[in-house]
Amino acid sequence: MHKKLFIPGPVDVREDVLLKMATPQIGHRTKDASALQRRISDKMRQVMYTKNEILLSTSSGSGLMEGAVRSCTAKKAAVFSVGAFGKRWYDMAVNNGVPADLYTSPLGQPTTAAMVEEALETGKYDLITVTHNETSTGIMNPVESIAAVVSKYPDVIFCLDTVSSMGGTKIEVDALGVDICITSTQKCLGLPAGMAICSISEKALKAAEKVPHRGMYFDLLALYQCIQKKDYQYPSTPSLAHMFALDYQLDNILNEGLENRYARHLAMAKTVREWAKKYFDLFVDEAYTSNTLTTVKNTREIDVSALNKALGEVGFQISNGYGDLKDKTFRIAHMADTQHETLTALLTAIEEILKLKA
Ligand SMILES: *Cc1c(COP(=O)(O)O)cnc(C)c1O
Repeated sequence: MHKKLFIPGPVDVREDVLLKMATPQIGHRTKDASALQRRISDKMRQVMYTKNEILLSTSSGSGLMEGAVRSCTAKKAAVFSVGAFGKRWYDMAVNNGVPADLYTSPLGQPTTAAMVEEALETGKYDLITVTHNETSTGIMNPVESIAAVVSKYPDVIFCLDTVSSMGGTKIEVDALGVDICITSTQKCLGLPAGMAICSISEKALKAAEKVPHRGMYFDLLALYQCIQKKDYQYPSTPSLAHMFALDYQLDNILNEGLENRYARHLAMAKTVREWAKKYFDLFVDEAYTSNTLTTVKNTREIDVSALNKALGEVGFQISNGYGDLKDKTFRIAHMADTQHETLTALLTAIEEILKLKA
């Protein structure tokens, strides 16, 4: 039996979207391939609220995160972390020999504008990375106030990880002044994993020109130059299967309406938050809870693995806590094409399995 996925990626993918992956292949150096990739870029610009160029990468989101920090840091990167994915961005810098400092918030706390201000004031950094929505803890950072600080430093490249939030909540890339905004297909966009997408500003491209060793596969400047020269074709062979499905799914997303999609995500988030407060507790301060997944504090000390096994028997799967938060928390994703009724069916199933009484 297929288990409906309430894990924060990969998400359940609509049958019609999955079937698009089976479209017969086309040559990746054809006019049709150019048109396909151009259409995707145009639609992604709408989803991201940007006029910047879009880069598509046959990799998961991590590929472009590594590419961003490596391609555009000439001096030193300030990496802000509120959990596992922020920390991983720092490790990517270190492992590429990119000078970087890590600024970690206390567990369950956001990155604050004040932290960013204090770091940028030193003048040491020419790039910063921020996690918009930290999937390991369920925090959504206050990106508007962070962006207001970053905008005071026009020489700093602003990289934002929106892997688990783009398409599920409004992130206006140009209004926020984000130079490189990164996402992947297997979260709020509702596709299988295997493709990463980012927007890239002129400023980030200029910064990359000053970096001598940008790698090859994830050299963002080289990707940009290639698609300009070859009409949206990439240096290596892309996953055309993903391209067919992404082109189609972006139509679904735009037809649903971005505002409607965000409202659906928020309504589901509110339901899970209320449910969590009724039976357990929220792991993060309600001011910073994510709209796309909820981390529930395991106040009843339930056996999360046993719960998941029992859920599996009725066709659902949730996530245990991430890393050290395993068994101390559990996570329910409410993203992509999940509908409210399916979510409430999951919550009811959990109540029945655990015989919960408020
Ligand atoms: C899933 C995730 C990543 C990693 O993305 P991949 O596509 O798995 O490489 C990075 N950051 C966040 C916030 C994520 O949720």
